[in-house]
Amino acid sequence: MRPTDYDVVVIGGGPAGLSAALNLVRARLRVLVLDSNRPRHAATLFAHGFLTRDNISPLDLRRLGREDVTAYENGEVQFARVEAVTRVSGGFRIIASGVRGAPDRDVHAQRVVVATGLAEILPDIGNARAFYGTALHSCLECDGWEKSGEPLVLVGETDDLAWHAWRALQWTDDLTVLTNGVARVTDAEEAALAEVGVCVDRTPVTEVTGAHGVMTGLAMSDGRTLAFSKGFMRPTWRARLEFLTELGAVRDEEGLLIVDPRGRASVAGLYAAGDITPPGPQQIAVAAGAGVVVSATITHDLALERRG
Ligand SMILES: Cc1cc2nc3c(=O)[nH]c(=O)nc-3n(C[C@H](O)[C@H](O)[C@H](O)COP(=O)(O)OP(=O)(O)OC[C@H]3O[C@@H](n4cnc5c(N)ncnc54)[C@H](O)[C@@H]3O)c2cc1C
Repeated sequence: MRPTDYDVVVIGGGPAGLSAALNLVRARLRVLVLDSNRPRHAATLFAHGFLTRDNISPLDLRRLGREDVTAYENGEVQFARVEAVTRVSGGFRIIASGVRGAPDRDVHAQRVVVATGLAEILPDIGNARAFYGTALHSCLECDGWEKSGEPLVLVGETDDLAWHAWRALQWTDDLTVLTNGVARVTDAEEAALAEVGVCVDRTPVTEVTGAHGVMTGLAMSDGRTLAFSKGFMRPTWRARLEFLTELGAVRDEEGLLIVDPRGRASVAGLYAAGDITPPGPQQIAVAAGAGVVVSATITHDLALERRG
C-alpha cells in the first residue's frame, strides 16, 4: 500500500466519525480521519447524557476519541478540511486543506465515511451566539436538567415552536415562548399553551442582555426587556456537503445524506453516520452508535467482496 492509500477515509472527527474509525482500525483496516475541527457542540462547556462521560467537556471527549483511534498503528487523525471527493479506479480520491498548520492531503481510499455533522443557524438576534452554550442551549434532552424548574424562555423562528414548548414543559412549568416575529404559532396552539400557563410573545427580539455568557434578559423591539437567565433556542441547520457534489450522492429535501439502515449511501463505497444523516441533529450516543453500525457494515461488505 502506498502511504497515500487507505482502506477507509473518515471525513469528520466528531463522535460519529471517531467511533467508526475506532472500530475500523480494530478490524485491521488502515484508516485516516480528516477533521476540520469545527464541531457544532464546541459552543458548550459540558456535554451531558453520554454514559460514563456525563458532564465531560465536548473538546475533551473528542481528544480522548482521537487518542483511542491513534493508539492503533493503523489509525491516523489529521486536522484538515475536505474540499473534494471524486471517484477513481479502485475507490475514491480525497483532497483536503490542512487546518491549524497541518499539511494538505491528497489521498486514495477504497471506502469513505461521511460524518461531518451540521452547521447551525441561530435565530436572527444580534448577539445570541455570545450566550449560546452557556445560558441558551438548543437540545432539551442534553441541557434541560441544568435548567430544571427555573423560569425559561424558548426562542425560535420555526413553525414547530409550539411543539418544542410542549417538550420543554418536561423541565419547567414556567415557560415563555418568543417567536422573534417569525415563527408561526397558530391561535389554537397559543390557546392550548395558555391553558397550561405558557405565554407566546410574537414581538421581535433585539438582543440578549448580559455579559460574559451570563444572561440577564431579552431586549424586545417594543422597548421591553424580559428578565430571564436561562432558556433554549430553536436553531435550523445546514448540511455542508459541497465536497460531495461530483459524486452526486442522494440527499433529502433538507440536504441530509440519505443512507440505508446500515449506513450505506446511494454511491457504492460511500457511507455516512451521525447528524449528517436523517433525521438530523440528535445526541452524542446516537452519533457514536451510528459510527459503530457503519464500521460493522464495512467489514460486512468486505466479507461479501471476499466471498465473491
Ligand atoms: C450547543 C450544543 C450542545 C450539545 N450538547 C449535547 C449534550 O450535552 N449531549 C449530547 O448527547 N449531545 C449534545 N449535543 C449534540 C451533539 O453534539 C451532536 O449530536 C453530535 O456531536 C453529533 O456528532 P457527529 O459526529 O455527527 O457531528 P459533529 O460532532 O458535529 O462532528 C462533525 C465533525 O466534522 C467536521 N467536518 C465538517 N465538515 C468537514 C469537512 N469538509 N472536512 C473535514 N471535517 C469536516 C467538523 O469540524 C466536526 O469536527 C449538543 C449540540 C450542541 C450544538
